[in-house]
Amino acid sequence: MVSIKIHGGKDEIGGNKILVEHKGTKIMLDFGMSFKQSGLYFSEFLKPRKCVALKDFFELGLLPDINGIYREDYLKQMEKPEEEKGIDAVFLTHAHADHAQYIHFLRNDIPIYCTNATEIILGVLEETGRGDYSDLITACEAFTFYTNAKGGLSRVTRKKEEFVKTRIFNIMETEKKVKIGSMEIEMVPVDHSLPGSCAFIINTDEGNIVYTGDIRFHGSNQQSSKDFVEKAKEANPNWLICEGTRIGEDKQDNEEGVRNEMSKLIKDAKGLVFIEHPIRDLDRVVSIFEAAKSNKRQFVVNLKLAYLIQSLGDLCPFKLDDVKIFVPRKSWGLICKSGTDEKLVNADYSKWEIPFLRRDNSITYTELQKNQIKYVVSMSIWEINQLTDIRPKDAIWIKSSCEPFCDEMEIDEERKKHWLEHFNIKEYSAHASGHASGIEIMEMIKEIKPKNLIPVHTEKKSVFNELKIPVLVGVNST
Ligand SMILES: [Zn+2]
Ligand SMILES: [Zn+2]
Repeated sequence: MVSIKIHGGKDEIGGNKILVEHKGTKIMLDFGMSFKQSGLYFSEFLKPRKCVALKDFFELGLLPDINGIYREDYLKQMEKPEEEKGIDAVFLTHAHADHAQYIHFLRNDIPIYCTNATEIILGVLEETGRGDYSDLITACEAFTFYTNAKGGLSRVTRKKEEFVKTRIFNIMETEKKVKIGSMEIEMVPVDHSLPGSCAFIINTDEGNIVYTGDIRFHGSNQQSSKDFVEKAKEANPNWLICEGTRIGEDKQDNEEGVRNEMSKLIKDAKGLVFIEHPIRDLDRVVSIFEAAKSNKRQFVVNLKLAYLIQSLGDLCPFKLDDVKIFVPRKSWGLICKSGTDEKLVNADYSKWEIPFLRRDNSITYTELQKNQIKYVVSMSIWEINQLTDIRPKDAIWIKSSCEPFCDEMEIDEERKKHWLEHFNIKEYSAHASGHASGIEIMEMIKEIKPKNLIPVHTEKKSVFNELKIPVLVGVNST
């Protein structure tokens, strides 16, 4: 019997955790964080306590209590006995937090299968991320002491390399199926707002399963999504686990339209152009790069984006040398004090930021202030305090990201408006969703013709009933 249990993402957008079981083989599809569930109890300043390991997460339903999947150091902290490994592999569709963030909690010896770009992005997130829960491609043993050089006890930190374990990552390639016990899993690339996104087709001798992951048909990889639909149809699936973020919504989006709109706004701009965008949405980043270039302006990226572009290498259509890198003043602000010792300047920045401080294409606020008409600057509400240094005149702000969908985001948006008013910056918007429209999802399902439908990543499951295909919440094993 095939069993499909949705441990996250059932009646909400994201937090996908899908356990598939067949003849003793168990695989997990995605292991993401539920923003909805987490937001019910926690905020930026009220976080689950690391000292109780998984306890807060279990108590509040943020993690499923499944035997044999969690890290041994965490179980030990909870005084739980050692467990046998409970699943054979984890397959990640992409590196968005709502699909991948909680791999932090998984045992090291569970192999993770994903695309090359997904592993790179997880590596970037681990390096640039803050907080207690960002062990993604490695895992640093927690709650452990060691005997230091003075003979006393010290806590383990990431600096002690022997305690940092690498997870087992297996890079999937197109057309190459992976065999795990009684299942064969094929990775099929799809279009979404993150590089390396994919869907999975799972073959078993008792029926095939197709999982869309997050999908759209209007970005630069739209052909991949169309090819995926063909492949999924050929698989004649018994079960289609299908995302439904925008189910019931008719509005059709278009990334090319976003690029044209941005280009038009940049053309008319008389001063600096700031663009607020999802930092790792490479499709959008390329759109901004092209829109700036066609208006003979230079695209200015922040340090995180610079690090991502460099890490993606050939997966990014342009090179880091083709853009300018904005180095903000941090901590003591020594970067702008000429003649300061390099080592002292470096102390203002994280280790990963240092290689970007003195490149030929690195700039600070002084250049942006001097030549405002020359640049299009990637900007976010988290760096908006840089405006005090930059002193923009006649600037515009293009919001190229989704509208706020929770109270905290509403408050951030309100705060941003105050900054823009203060500096007399006019705001425009140009955005396309990372998800297919409701109509496109319905058409995709009709084309694939699954025997059963399991909606995930949606708050409007009932809309799927219109298709007259049995809608399930999961498949039980017997
Ligand atoms: Zn998602
Ligand atoms: Zn996503």
